[in-house]
Amino acid sequence: MQALGRLAQVGPQALVPAQHLAFLAFTFSKSSRLGDGREPAKSLPHRLRAALGGLLMGATLCIAAQAQTAAPVASAQPEGASKFIQNPGWHFQKQAVAAANPLATEAGYAMLTAGGSAVDAAIAVQMVLSLVEPQSSGIGGGAFLVHFDGKNMQAYDGREAAPAQAGPDLFLGPDGKPIPMKQAIVGGRAVGVPGALSMLAMAHAKHGKLPWAFLFAPAIRLARDGFAVSPRLAALLAGETALQKDPVAAQYFYDAQGRPWPAGHVLRNPELAAVLQRIAIEGPDALMTGEVAQTMVNAVRRHPSNPGLLQLGDLAQYKPVLRQALCTNYAVAPKTYRLCGMPPPSSGMLTIASILGTLAFTPAASLSFTGGQPGADWLHLYGEASRLAFADRALYVGDPAFTEAPAGDWLSLVQPAYLQARAAAIAPQGPVMPKVQAGTPGAVQAPLNWMPMPEQTEHGTSHISVLDRWGHALAMTTTIEDAFGSRLMVNRGRGLAGGFLLNNQLTDFSFSHSGADGKPVANRVQAGKRPRSSMAPTLVFDADSGDLQLSGGSPGGAFIIHFTAKTLYGMLHWGLSPQAAIDLPNFASLEGTTFLEKGRFAPASAAALQARGHQVLEIPLTSGLQVIAREPDGWAGGADGRREGAVLGD
Ligand code: GLU
Repeated sequence: MQALGRLAQVGPQALVPAQHLAFLAFTFSKSSRLGDGREPAKSLPHRLRAALGGLLMGATLCIAAQAQTAAPVASAQPEGASKFIQNPGWHFQKQAVAAANPLATEAGYAMLTAGGSAVDAAIAVQMVLSLVEPQSSGIGGGAFLVHFDGKNMQAYDGREAAPAQAGPDLFLGPDGKPIPMKQAIVGGRAVGVPGALSMLAMAHAKHGKLPWAFLFAPAIRLARDGFAVSPRLAALLAGETALQKDPVAAQYFYDAQGRPWPAGHVLRNPELAAVLQRIAIEGPDALMTGEVAQTMVNAVRRHPSNPGLLQLGDLAQYKPVLRQALCTNYAVAPKTYRLCGMPPPSSGMLTIASILGTLAFTPAASLSFTGGQPGADWLHLYGEASRLAFADRALYVGDPAFTEAPAGDWLSLVQPAYLQARAAAIAPQGPVMPKVQAGTPGAVQAPLNWMPMPEQTEHGTSHISVLDRWGHALAMTTTIEDAFGSRLMVNRGRGLAGGFLLNNQLTDFSFSHSGADGKPVANRVQAGKRPRSSMAPTLVFDADSGDLQLSGGSPGGAFIIHFTAKTLYGMLHWGLSPQAAIDLPNFASLEGTTFLEKGRFAPASAAALQARGHQVLEIPLTSGLQVIAREPDGWAGGADGRREGAVLGD
């Protein structure tokens, strides 16, 4: 436990997580049986459970995390801002979990201390997140997980898929025009086949060390006995208008007068506890077939105003995919790093590698970093490199089962010679480039006949990073898309309150399927296809030694790419700790607009960018970054104070 003492950098406000830990200790010392009286398929020896309970009780004395007592501030941003928390940063020697909510972090850490692997911890984290951070991710959603087993990388794709009945006109109205985003999100239309749980089962079969059922104990216990609504969840509920229209969600998230539960209210979700118990015993089939599957289908197809196309067969046939990780070398003299992440259907790592690789052919690295934020010269170069990268992303990236990679290889988009030629269009002192087009990478003889996808908003996600005692690590980004997803809460109608929310991931497809000239959009809706993502779970290695350097990622829709790129740049170029890199002001650039995190940049920066022709918009940019990174004498962790992240390790 003495390593945990290193975390004790904050004072009495650490009480909230400490209470949570005590609660989890109670969970583990009492929960030898699953809640309905059945024994788990395999269970941990009694002595181990008892030891775990004791360990966690002890940890309550020395654990520290951030305060969560400040009043929440609702905001206009879709998964909006809540109160900023100044996190201290964390240090450890051997193993750690970083997640977006302290209760989830604690559940993951409990698995590590019980002898679990990184994947074991991630499963426990995900199940607790389904309960305590329902706005962001859960068993009704999808996820990507990149894993390092000490030698090789695995990239697990649990992305949602379009139902077999869905086609390119899914999001077109009777007039043949795309329907408004909000209208598409709420209801059954945008619900994709959830893939997170099946993907986790696949990863567990390969990398799990603890019994599957054991990983569900913390979430089941918290769902049954209750958890304190977090300030962020309370703030998002207060700003929500669509969730109340779902009868199950209205009853669960709001009181009899229709007021959202405040922070600190103890919320119980017995329906989710019951579903998780079945999954603990039977595996993902308990979700993807039978009664729960039928309930999902009914919720989607019978939605009164916006029904969808999900069928039982879509759920039963869903398969997670084990892919080859997408890795590129990235030089920061004198070192060379290897950046690894998900290949398509995610555009995340590809676009990050494109931005950073393009910046390498500009003076960006020679510009000084002073005053705790990048200056206008650097921001200009970053914005221009991003516009080039996003133009390629809009044209080329889609589900590889349906979409041919340019020149037959996604890496053609990040080849140095290609990026160097692209970077030549950037004027370091401005003005901004006129309209930016996609390039023709590699040996693309006849450019693919695609129409670029117009930029659409995306939001509502969570990031998990884990390092285990074997030096195996993962980065997992997990989502139900919008905040509270489709606002459809699945409940089997057995008189138990609560349930779980379904995703609206299909809105990550392009609403228009083709351009005026009939050219198709690569990321158009097709039956069984997975929508393009921006999620960027990232592992970074020393390219020479092969040693793992860091695991990280963020929610934030298309801004994920920028939040993650910022953090990588801050650590790799500017030598910042994970926490300092996360805390850097956020910035982003999508096609035209340059976004700066509101209230965080010197006014002179915005003015200097405008003088170069940037259209600048200052808005809250609510990243949810979590990072674990090697440092000279061990490992450091950072969690985003813009949300409720916490890191635990020893
Ligand atoms: N649905 C988005 C994606 O997969 C993520 C949404 C978010 O981060 O809020 O790229």
